[in-house]
Amino acid sequence: MARLILKFGGTSVANVVRLEQVARIVKKEIDAGHQVAVVVSAMAGITNELVSFAHALCPSDVTLEHDVVLASGEQVTSGLLALALQRLGLKSRSYLSWQIPILTDASPSQAKILNIATHELETCFKENCIPVVAGFQGVTENRRVTTLGRGGSDATAVALAVALKADCCDIYTDVNGVYTADPRLVFYAQKLETITYAEMFELASQGAKVLQARSVELAMKHKVKLRVLSSFSESEGTTVVEERNKVEGTLISGIAHTQNEAKVTLIDIPDQNGMAAIVGSLFEHQICADMIVQNSLQDGKSNLTFVLQKSDLDRSVPLLEDVKKKIGFTDIIVNKEIAKISVVGIGMRSNLEIVTILFKTLAERGINVQIISTSEIRLSVVIDLKHMSEALETLHTAFNLDEKKV
Ligand code: ASP
Ligand code: MG
Repeated sequence: MARLILKFGGTSVANVVRLEQVARIVKKEIDAGHQVAVVVSAMAGITNELVSFAHALCPSDVTLEHDVVLASGEQVTSGLLALALQRLGLKSRSYLSWQIPILTDASPSQAKILNIATHELETCFKENCIPVVAGFQGVTENRRVTTLGRGGSDATAVALAVALKADCCDIYTDVNGVYTADPRLVFYAQKLETITYAEMFELASQGAKVLQARSVELAMKHKVKLRVLSSFSESEGTTVVEERNKVEGTLISGIAHTQNEAKVTLIDIPDQNGMAAIVGSLFEHQICADMIVQNSLQDGKSNLTFVLQKSDLDRSVPLLEDVKKKIGFTDIIVNKEIAKISVVGIGMRSNLEIVTILFKTLAERGINVQIISTSEIRLSVVIDLKHMSEALETLHTAFNLDEKKV
């Protein structure tokens, strides 16, 4: 008998028919003799809708009242799935975060899990009852409701796997696993049998939506056995592993992309203190600037370019205008028509060939690279949004990732 955490994403619980299918998947594991705890997301599209309601009434900030609204979607699906399981003759009950409790800090919309008490859930197991836990939500020690960041049900599932010492954490979604690139944009994308935690973390941080980056980090830290599976079809899925053999002839394992970011350039900033004031004022409001590049100009002034989430733009521009008044740079230029493409692979460690291939491939297509950033196993470039699909496809081919389709 193994102890399993099964997590089902928004499309897997999108309606009552899908929930019945999920209940059958859970029943199969129970019939195989396993002990199961389930984590659910909100129905597809619901969290976005809830965000838009809260944003309409309070666009300038994110508070714990936003979290109360956002967390409600998962309450609905936890109850519904418990009902669907009961209908199959299984004993089941729902758990909201405060009932366990899943204790977090108090950062609105990006709370971190501090502790999960296991007593309630262990009792549930002992009674042969299947706990269905509402993902994405937590509770502070002052009993305020929090949420764990978008995609946060994955973090709930991994954290539960750690707390309950589960043998495996299965993340059910609407694709068969992790692909070398988004199969909706890259026809020749292929499913990976395995991927390392480190690679998965980079891909997830750079736009691959299949797993939340933070949950991968947590799984890596605690060596949780993590699998990505489809609730729509039976197939092997992808297993996230610590190490894997390099596939012959491939330097990279996957390509992620995002078009959720905007590029901001500030012109003629007077001095170094200016830089600190700018980035500091954004961080103070939990706005994360990435790919920060400074160009020194001749007269001691400099330009600063960075990217941030488009969804943070409305809040960022007024903050930057304030800093502009204080330190007196001349201009703020915002470009929303950008895409970031990231190639990721443990095979690229200390291999300069990657850079050459990437630039050559893009240059041949006349695609201009606006910003570059790297980590040990990742190379990211910002390009014009209109070239995104073309860049993804040509890089996928150039890095030998294309599946041989007949
Ligand atoms: N429902 C939340 C979201 O859409 C959490 C999740 O699905 O993991 O971000
Ligand atoms: Mg998700």
